[in-house]
Amino acid sequence: KVEGEKLNERTIESKNYYANASKHLAGGVASSYQLHDPWPIYVEKGDGPRVWDVDGNEYYDFHNGFGSMVQGHAHPAIGKAVADRYPLGTHFAAPTEDAIVVGDELARRFGLPKWRYTNSGSESTMDAIRIARALTGRDTVMKIFGSYHGHHDTVMVDIGWIDEQEIGPRDNYASIPYGAGVPQATVDMTVAVPFNDAETMEKRIQALDAEGRKPACVIMEAAMMNLGVVLPEDGYLQAVRDITKKYGIILIFDEVKTGICIAPGGATEKFGVQPDMVTLAKALGGGLPAGAIGMTEEVATVVEDGSVYQVGTYNGNPLTLAAARASLLEVMTDDAYAHLAHLNDRILAGCDDVIKRYDLDAYTVGIGSKGCVVFSDHKVTDYESYMANAKTGGKLADLAWLFNMNRGIFMTPGREEEWTLSVTHDDAAIDAYVEAFDQLAAAIRG
Ligand code: PLP
Repeated sequence: KVEGEKLNERTIESKNYYANASKHLAGGVASSYQLHDPWPIYVEKGDGPRVWDVDGNEYYDFHNGFGSMVQGHAHPAIGKAVADRYPLGTHFAAPTEDAIVVGDELARRFGLPKWRYTNSGSESTMDAIRIARALTGRDTVMKIFGSYHGHHDTVMVDIGWIDEQEIGPRDNYASIPYGAGVPQATVDMTVAVPFNDAETMEKRIQALDAEGRKPACVIMEAAMMNLGVVLPEDGYLQAVRDITKKYGIILIFDEVKTGICIAPGGATEKFGVQPDMVTLAKALGGGLPAGAIGMTEEVATVVEDGSVYQVGTYNGNPLTLAAARASLLEVMTDDAYAHLAHLNDRILAGCDDVIKRYDLDAYTVGIGSKGCVVFSDHKVTDYESYMANAKTGGKLADLAWLFNMNRGIFMTPGREEEWTLSVTHDDAAIDAYVEAFDQLAAAIRG
């Protein structure tokens, strides 16, 4: 039953687009993450919880632009803010009132007093790391193995291991570039440790310190969002906070995915552990390219005294910040977060029920507007446990994507991603997802 599942007949127009696109777009897409077998699905439009592809197929959107569209597509409040802003001019490279209002709101949400803007998650993490390096006068960056923090060289390391390359022992992971073109000298400056293991983190810091390579910062997601969803175990984040304080290392919570999506103040609020810096992007701009960096007063000194250039022509773009202001103040309200919690409870319970009825080797995990089904017979707590089930888990996740797409559920491909619900989703959208999952389970068992 599973073998008969193909995407081909209903997405022929996407196939035609792909052929045309491949003439002048490298690989036929705008970004390598948009590639997918047998061809990318080209999208025509979105409205609320739905998207339509160029073949006219209608989907409930659970991909939501890799988690950027927690507000839903074409939200009227954001549309009005952008439409009102446009005739007043869209770019000056000078601050506007919205920059102040959004900064005030982010400070309130994340408990960090000082903010700067960027245009993407990669820019946010790149600048945050430079600020940490400037503050500490150190070069080494510590991250979590398996975490993605964007596409600049420093963090294109230890995201996954490339084929047969060895990851090495847990307390001394190798530094492995993710793809070609990352200079070896940069790779060597980035060191990774396992998630949910504060003891190993401390040991590695001590070893690096002994070599004169104490890290400038630990950059991490408080809840990992690029191995499906992996939650921090009790006490882990506080232990990381204590260790980074003890060794004078800047703690950066990369909240590009969690930031606006899992609570008003993101993972920082949700888990009650205060980092020195927060990086935001994705959902911040309500679908426009946005990014922000939050800092303590102390961290901000190197920006304020001009020793670090935190710059960008489009930083604080008026159109983006008009959208961000409307999103934060009018759309992502307490009621919106309560609605997301209700929806996530419903989708998780529905998928749990399917797993139980079909006795699948799988479990669900979710937080805020995010979640996923993990196809694994053991709990995933870090990259090693994630990879222990790579073959079966990967195959089932690919099949789930295919089943979803064929049943009107637009999803992120692959097992490393998760669903993002939007404030415009309703119970019917959730039930459609669960029904598609039920059909997958039946086919697997069939
Ligand atoms: N940080 C995290 C946690 C991410 O998930 C991503 C993107 O997926 C980034 C940073 C990079 O963001 P962008 O793609 O906007 O550069």
